[in-house]
Amino acid sequence: MRAAVAGATLPDHQPSWEFPFYDSGHDEFRARVRARLADAVLPGADDWERQGFIGAAGWRALGAAGLLGEPHDGPGFLRSAVLLEELGATGYAGVRSAVGVHAYMAASYLLLFGSEAQRAAWLPAARRGERVTALAITEHQAGSDLSDLRTVAVPRPEGGFRLDGHKCYIANGTRAGLLVVLARTGAPREAPDPPRRAPGGGNGLAGASLLLVDADAPGVVRRPQPMSGYRSADVAEIVFDGVDLPADALLGRPGRALLQLMRALDFERLVAGLLAVGGVRHTLELLGAHLAARRMRGGPLGARQAVRHQVADLLAEYDTVRRYAHHAAWLHSQGRLDTRTASVVKLRATELAVGAAQTCARLHGAQGYLEDSAVARVHRDALAGTIAAGASELLRDLIAEAPAT
Ligand SMILES: Cc1cc2nc3c(=O)[nH]c(=O)nc-3n(C[C@H](O)[C@H](O)[C@H](O)COP(=O)(O)OP(=O)(O)OC[C@H]3O[C@@H](n4cnc5c(N)ncnc54)[C@H](O)[C@@H]3O)c2cc1C
Repeated sequence: MRAAVAGATLPDHQPSWEFPFYDSGHDEFRARVRARLADAVLPGADDWERQGFIGAAGWRALGAAGLLGEPHDGPGFLRSAVLLEELGATGYAGVRSAVGVHAYMAASYLLLFGSEAQRAAWLPAARRGERVTALAITEHQAGSDLSDLRTVAVPRPEGGFRLDGHKCYIANGTRAGLLVVLARTGAPREAPDPPRRAPGGGNGLAGASLLLVDADAPGVVRRPQPMSGYRSADVAEIVFDGVDLPADALLGRPGRALLQLMRALDFERLVAGLLAVGGVRHTLELLGAHLAARRMRGGPLGARQAVRHQVADLLAEYDTVRRYAHHAAWLHSQGRLDTRTASVVKLRATELAVGAAQTCARLHGAQGYLEDSAVARVHRDALAGTIAAGASELLRDLIAEAPAT
């Protein structure tokens, strides 16, 4: 099936030879992933939106469909790139966020910095969808700028740590079994000279570490933070009130969080960008169907020039961003993804999603405001994409400061 918007064909079904990074095997994989997502996500997604999270059966279905265990790096990552785009194209940004955080963003810290024992303890169950993971970085006063991080993990004389702090806006927050937590394990030192920028723009992550925290441990308190969009992402605040952690809770070496985040966040931006590219396709498909069906002054709404030009601008941007995202995915598969490229993908894809959602909603008229409509969902979801995993302004700073490649 080839989708069209106001008479112009979307490029998502072009044969693989038009993309130097993909082969016919990726085309077949894409078709399989679409079918699996149709089985594992679409039947339950509206219920997940209403209840605010993916239920345990939903996670297990995602795991059984093989959607939680595709490679994070190497040539196999291109399969993940296909999967992420298709997951975004389901049109449920809350689901894509929950799965993206679980299977890619949080899991990447285990894969990059975890010991053999830590990986063995958590990853197999995560891939089966039996144990959900979350990434707990943000605090009320420490979002884009992490330098005022206040969660502390104080080393105990008998070994291990005592964790105290308050995280917020954490996807998979109430359902996760494992939390990857950013906390200070040592005294913050003076900012180095010249200052090393934290991923969020601050330079105060000295003495910070990443820790694995069992979400069911005594002292972990979780409360839902329902959002206007991303409703099935299970966003929550998490309080750590004197949580005892074993010594092997530490992920990698102590005090290395700045370097760990700098490495992992480029991957996170790429993942968020690929998901958003798929989301834009879903929005354009909604728009295309409406423009063909809605009659205006004796013809389809999509035939009017004022509308066609808006659609042409969106298609031009979509085509450009999508191809650049594929290029970035290939760079990552070669171990060559850089901050600037990852930031461009995330910035352009999520900002395009906002523009596409606004045009889609406006051209739907009142239909686009019906609370339960897919159009209203993509409209309310789009803005969050420009905030989560790095606000657009922060990404612009990173792009401006990064060396040209
Ligand atoms: C749906 C959703 C899911 C999330 N999931 C997670 C999660 O799983 N784990 C987690 O740890 N966090 C998560 N977050 C939090 C997210 O990482 C933060 O919202 C983000 O880092 C921005 O921080 P903030 O919200 O405190 O905004 P602030 O840092 O207060 O920024 C507010 C606004 O200021 C502007 N701004 C920011 N930086 C600059 C700058 N350098 N120059 C100019 N303007 C700027 C931007 O418009 C920004 O939106 C999630 C957020 C959302 C919305």
